[in-house]
Amino acid sequence: MAKLRFFPVSYDVDGRIVLVVGDGAQALQKLRLLVRSRARLRLISACPAADLAAFIAEHEVEQVALGLCPCLIKDAALVFIASGDEQQDAALSAMARACGVPVNVVDRPHLSDFAVPAIVDRAPIAVAISSDGFAPVLAQRVRALIEAALPPQFGRLGALAQAIRTAVMTTLHDSASRRKFWARIFDGEAGRLALDGHGEQARLLALQGLREASFAPARGIVYLVGAGPGAEDLLTLRAHRLLQSADVIVYDALVPEAVLAMGRRDAERLSVGKRKGRHSMPQDEINALLVRLAGEGRMVVRLKAGDPLVFGRVGEEIAALREAAIPFEIVPGITAALAAAADSHIPLTLRGVASHIVFATAHGAEGEEPAGYEALAASGATIALYMGKSVADKAVARLVAGGLAATTPAVAVENAGRAGRRILRGTLGDLPLLVKREDVTGPVLILIGPAIAHASDALAENLAAALSAAA
Ligand code: SAH
Repeated sequence: MAKLRFFPVSYDVDGRIVLVVGDGAQALQKLRLLVRSRARLRLISACPAADLAAFIAEHEVEQVALGLCPCLIKDAALVFIASGDEQQDAALSAMARACGVPVNVVDRPHLSDFAVPAIVDRAPIAVAISSDGFAPVLAQRVRALIEAALPPQFGRLGALAQAIRTAVMTTLHDSASRRKFWARIFDGEAGRLALDGHGEQARLLALQGLREASFAPARGIVYLVGAGPGAEDLLTLRAHRLLQSADVIVYDALVPEAVLAMGRRDAERLSVGKRKGRHSMPQDEINALLVRLAGEGRMVVRLKAGDPLVFGRVGEEIAALREAAIPFEIVPGITAALAAAADSHIPLTLRGVASHIVFATAHGAEGEEPAGYEALAASGATIALYMGKSVADKAVARLVAGGLAATTPAVAVENAGRAGRRILRGTLGDLPLLVKREDVTGPVLILIGPAIAHASDALAENLAAALSAAA
């Protein structure tokens, strides 16, 4: 295994002197980074360039117009050298080393005791990215990814943690209950208040939570989380964060492996099935399972495909949790209809063409007839039909009987928003062909309505041709 030459550590510079030696752009670049720390900054520069001089005038940087000497170095915690001249750099580095003070020479690793990583600064949280000096551009790229993942106000969560840390350490004595408490603070209302800038309210709420946690046995919680259509990068940041701190992940068969893999490594994973034709756990057993797991004080993520509130039978799970007085929160996800529309470039609403959208199921609950969407269809709505593949013939018959023309544009998207996507385009009258198709094995979302005429031709196969060819 490759080993690190530069081991990342965080160095305490609070109130200590840090020296920067140089007159030009590189010294300025180092100072720009260092002013974000609590160090006392001293610039050793006889004739600073104009922008360097302007910078130190605006920041708390003391200028010393002498050359570097051991008497200046001996009080310093760190020395940065950017003289720009190789020989001078070498001499200055040797001087710092002789004084036993760690030195960094810009762009000269052989003269340096330490390197400065790329930093994502969300003080008090900081992420340092090091590439052992070999690939600074790669490190910058990683930095850009992390910058995007951490909102600018992320540090407020760190400030909240700082404000209550001592209380947490003295109140909760084992690391498991502390971990659970922190997870609940960061994912819950207190965390949200902190991120929104209500630091004091967040602190009080968190302390109240801490008092409750200290005398009540650990209380579990269930997060009903939408996993989106299946691509990992269509998961929300909140869903990702919860998956990372879950004790147990209870998931449906439609949730792909790649999304599950984003959960905490040692979280227990329980499949509750639910894919047409495969064995699945009856809904009331799932309800009871959630209540039991949370009742044991565990943090449960109930992961559902798409959005949990769209044909996810989450109403029954919520009722069971309410009855058992188990706290829960719901995290929305991208529902299949939205992914299917995006895949096929279909505006779901379109000025003058489609002014509303219907999320409909082709299967009614437990043998019930599906709700009457024919009237809506006739009004020009875009209909998103879930669970329609195997009953497309019946659904179409109802829509046509309800007054919708068989020539109404329709599209069937298999594996919307995930690998293996297939877009089949045609008319309402073509859809019954789907029923007999055994090669369409992924989940299928059907969109029907006049707006579908605006789907992208380039992306789609012709439904009738593709389906009848294989029939
Ligand atoms: N809660 C889910 C829907 C669950 S019902 C959501 O919001 O998306 C299951 C049905 O959803 C499937 O029969 C299919 O019609 C649709 N579906 C779910 N994921 C899909 C996907 N990736 N592509 C196409 N259809 C999908």
